[in-house]
Amino acid sequence: MEPSQITIVRSRRRKKTIQTKYGDGHLWIYLPAGMNPKDEQKWIDRMIERNNRSERKKKVKESDSWLVQHTEELNKKYFNGALTFSIRFVTNQNSRYGSCTSIDKTIRISDRVKTMPSWVQDYIIIHELTHLIYPDHSKNFWEKVNQYRYAERAKGYLIAIGAGTIDGETEPSELENVIS
Ligand SMILES: [Zn+2]
Repeated sequence: MEPSQITIVRSRRRKKTIQTKYGDGHLWIYLPAGMNPKDEQKWIDRMIERNNRSERKKKVKESDSWLVQHTEELNKKYFNGALTFSIRFVTNQNSRYGSCTSIDKTIRISDRVKTMPSWVQDYIIIHELTHLIYPDHSKNFWEKVNQYRYAERAKGYLIAIGAGTIDGETEPSELENVIS
């Protein structure tokens, strides 16, 4: 995120060190006085870029820790807290919204999910949590997932936005449901 305000402070006492301070969108850049304007600009650009990078990283960390905490709540609510897992947001999942590696109990959620309504986010997380018990999309799997009250609504939402599936799942057809 770009800082909304930048203040350059030039100090005669400063010899070589360049420092920054950041808070509430305000970036302070401390430079030694007497630098030539070209070098100064180069350092200012570099410091802004570095600050943007570290702010982005901080944001990712914050949202990951929210995700871990929130998923732990869903684990308690729907699985009696019985599941152990690690979960994080990833930026490189373009065709999937979530994935679960049941061997090392790792769940990855696409960061595109962050902008979805919370009940859709919860559905996606519960879907992936359920894979820790049922790696496939079996009948048992769907029985568990469908215990989430907004499951049907969330599936409809994903279809409506053109996503269709989370991780390539299919459900037993209507007919099969009627027979069983
Ligand atoms: Zn799935």
